[in-house]
Amino acid sequence: MRIHHLNCISTCPLGGRLMDGCAGPLLERGHLTCHCLLLELDTTLVLVDTGFGLRDVANPRGRLSAFFLGLVSPEFREEMTAIRQIERLGFDPRDVRHIVLTHLDFDHAGGLDDFPHATVHMLAAERDHAQAQKTWLDRQRFRPQQWSYRDKWNVYPMSSGEQWFGFKRVRPLDGLPPDIAMVPLIGHTLGHAGVAVPRGDGWLLQAGDAYFFRDEMNIDLPRCTPGLRFYQWMMEKDRSARLRNQERLRDLCRTHGSEVLICCAHDILEFERLADREAGRPPERVRAGVIAGAA
Ligand SMILES: [Zn+2]
Repeated sequence: MRIHHLNCISTCPLGGRLMDGCAGPLLERGHLTCHCLLLELDTTLVLVDTGFGLRDVANPRGRLSAFFLGLVSPEFREEMTAIRQIERLGFDPRDVRHIVLTHLDFDHAGGLDDFPHATVHMLAAERDHAQAQKTWLDRQRFRPQQWSYRDKWNVYPMSSGEQWFGFKRVRPLDGLPPDIAMVPLIGHTLGHAGVAVPRGDGWLLQAGDAYFFRDEMNIDLPRCTPGLRFYQWMMEKDRSARLRNQERLRDLCRTHGSEVLICCAHDILEFERLADREAGRPPERVRAGVIAGAA
């Protein structure tokens, strides 16, 4: 399995370095990624999260809330959508047969409509709470406008699963190799999950929005920028579960840091380290033609 790292449209939140922790004036906007994974298997492609999609770029106001458009100001460049980056890599986007979602927030689910043939895997609790649209903030963050193909959603209860490095109810996904696993990490949303994929001799855990800033995983002195601490507080659905899961992730770094590499969705330096290119640049072409065996 080969892992490609795609930043599917950066967001530029108010607050400059108080948000992203990089050098820059406070009044300048910060830069966060929407770090998605493209998994290249023998006969199929799997996308982990989708960032923003073509329809978001074409019609931001029709798809996204004015509140979040103003707050995080996505950099709407069509070439940075998952579908355009997958084409640029030399793949046929129709070979994306599976999408695994960490959660349904607008900056993770925006590209779903660009892959109408893909089965979309997520925790059942995520679907149920997002669809319920209970609070004002829920209606701003969970956007039914981005969910045109709900008939392709395949959801999983949190009642069963296996243990994985101390994380409970971890489960493989229908139609995918057993070593691609969904790892429940509740807190940011009520059905939030990380996604573990094999990497070399170990694993890569895409932890989604379980944390936002690289130094939150610093085992000696965890810290977060004030802006991202505020954003996580504003967005959290279960505070104690969120903080407990961050502690568990730090424990994982401490005890199995050589086996498991953890990344989150929005930290720009983590992305650039793993992708080995600047976050604002799409990837170079790696191959021509389609995946053999995919219909
Ligand atoms: Zn997010």
